[in-house]
Amino acid sequence: MPQASTLALVLSSSPLHEQDKLITLLTADRGLLKAVAPGAAKLKNRFGSLLELFSEGEFNYYWHEDKELVTLSKGELIKSFFPVVSAAENVFYFYLMAEIVIKSIPLNHQDTRIYKLLSAILRSREKKLAMDWLLLYFLVWLLRGEGLLFNPQRCSNCANRDFVRAWLRNDYRGLLCPACKTNERQSLSQEELTYIHWTATHAPDDPRTWDGNFAPAALIRIMVSKIEYHGEFSLQSRRYLPEFR
Ligand SMILES: [Zn+2]
Repeated sequence: MPQASTLALVLSSSPLHEQDKLITLLTADRGLLKAVAPGAAKLKNRFGSLLELFSEGEFNYYWHEDKELVTLSKGELIKSFFPVVSAAENVFYFYLMAEIVIKSIPLNHQDTRIYKLLSAILRSREKKLAMDWLLLYFLVWLLRGEGLLFNPQRCSNCANRDFVRAWLRNDYRGLLCPACKTNERQSLSQEELTYIHWTATHAPDDPRTWDGNFAPAALIRIMVSKIEYHGEFSLQSRRYLPEFR
């Protein structure tokens, strides 16, 4: 049987059969990987804390040519983010990020950016950066990485760059300046537009703080709706966030 190993983050874990678990991994350089972890649901098992949500590890696996799922043989925990991820004030944000990645990244997607992005978000939350701002940063970069982010500084109709508020087209594909807007309902303030532009050149843990410039909730809702619109899915875990209540 062919074997391989990969650096990956655990995005989901669910029971499978009596004693096994079904695991979704985000690999560092080959997108998502779905795997069976034999015996992982047993109290004593060889995986330990390796399969907790957002554990980062080196995973060894093998596969059969005729089966879609690979089988995990063993692995080595590199870093556990469980204390951060499982904290009550964080856990639903991380559920949402995992759900977004699972639903929007194709299998065998050879893009290392999403892995680096999630890794940066996790490490920034360890440093106690605000969870809602980290989610917003993640959403903006996920869209940018997929080539779906609009230009925050240019009207998509008249190319005007001189506006202090812009309206998002109803199909989410571009902004309209005040002169070009018609019946669009979602608008972004100058601060929100500047923030989106700023993320292109700054890390999430950049010391400059946006706290107090604007509240991130409205932009979080717009970005999540945009991801749902382009992906043609709805995100179940967003309902648990205060931004959506
Ligand atoms: Zn315009």
